[in-house]
Amino acid sequence: MKLAAGQLELIDAAKAARENASYPLSVCAERNAVAAAAVAGAQPGDVRAVAIVAHASSPAPPCGACRQVLSEFADPDVVVVIHNLADGSTTAFTVGELLPQAFGPDNLASS
Ligand SMILES: [Zn+2]
Repeated sequence: MKLAAGQLELIDAAKAARENASYPLSVCAERNAVAAAAVAGAQPGDVRAVAIVAHASSPAPPCGACRQVLSEFADPDVVVVIHNLADGSTTAFTVGELLPQAFGPDNLASS
């Protein structure tokens, strides 16, 4: 399904999470959610909010690879809410806080 301009789409990362017995082949839910959004027509900058919910011993912020992908599909001020079901805690960061000085497409432009 192609997204129309301004249309909001909720990507359920839980449905996107895939783990393999061979862990290196796994892809985090965050990156799969962004990939699913891209397949649905999302462009860089189209991700408007991110919510990560996990049941873990501590809050589960996105890994470095996911931070990079999020930084390319979300503006630096987009909020990433992290909720831990185990203790009920909720924290929030912006994409810019999670990956300051991000490397992006502008770094690849030739002069
Ligand atoms: Zn990740």
